[in-house]
Amino acid sequence: MAVFNKAKFRFYEELNDFLPPDKKKFFFVYNFECNPSIKDVIEAMGVPHTEVDLILVNGDSVTFSYQLKDNDVVSVYPVFESLDISNVTHLREKPLREPKFVLDVHLGKLSKYLRMLGFDTQYQNSYEDSEIIKISLEHKRTILTRDVALLKYSEVTHGYWIRSQDPIEQLKEVIKRSDLSKSIRPFYRCSDCNGIIKEVSKESIMDKLQTGTKKYFNEFFQCNSCGKVYWKGSHFKKMERFIENLKVSI
Ligand SMILES: [Zn+2]
Repeated sequence: MAVFNKAKFRFYEELNDFLPPDKKKFFFVYNFECNPSIKDVIEAMGVPHTEVDLILVNGDSVTFSYQLKDNDVVSVYPVFESLDISNVTHLREKPLREPKFVLDVHLGKLSKYLRMLGFDTQYQNSYEDSEIIKISLEHKRTILTRDVALLKYSEVTHGYWIRSQDPIEQLKEVIKRSDLSKSIRPFYRCSDCNGIIKEVSKESIMDKLQTGTKKYFNEFFQCNSCGKVYWKGSHFKKMERFIENLKVSI
């Protein structure tokens, strides 16, 4: 009969979202052979490395390459908001300076919301996992995904697993997690294509306007990428209300 080593694990806060009920918020015993890396063990339990910021083994902070030993007691933490833990080894990569995102194929609605709030958001409903990872690395974009497996690829440095299935709740998650509430810039990005919206003269886009719009509006904006024309009509008022409500609820 094989003799297993044993370690005790406990996961904290939102890392429990990835665990089955009997492992949530308790120490549980993990049996293993040899000395696997702690990163492999944590990912095998379902928690992607991009969500982990701190691992303590027997009270000391360790890196992802730490090899698990018999009788280790392991505590795994997500990103701390306020605790002073400056003496320990943070595992999560430093946040990217300018928030930029690439979204998986299930997050079309969220991509529109993020762009509407002015955040640089790349999305196509045809992306393969490998393309998403390549875009993330080459253009320094944080991956947002509903697919945990995507965040377990070892090349992935910046990623976040979206918990909710509701696009507005998803938007709130991203704003909170990336601390974006002060960076919201409405009317800056095209929600269709992520291009930048600039003010244009009425004459230059006259042929694209319907009679009513021509009559009642004089201020116009246009996407520099797809050419879509925007003006501050009823849709704009709705968007302003949406943003006000959002700010109150986060
Ligand atoms: Zn556009």
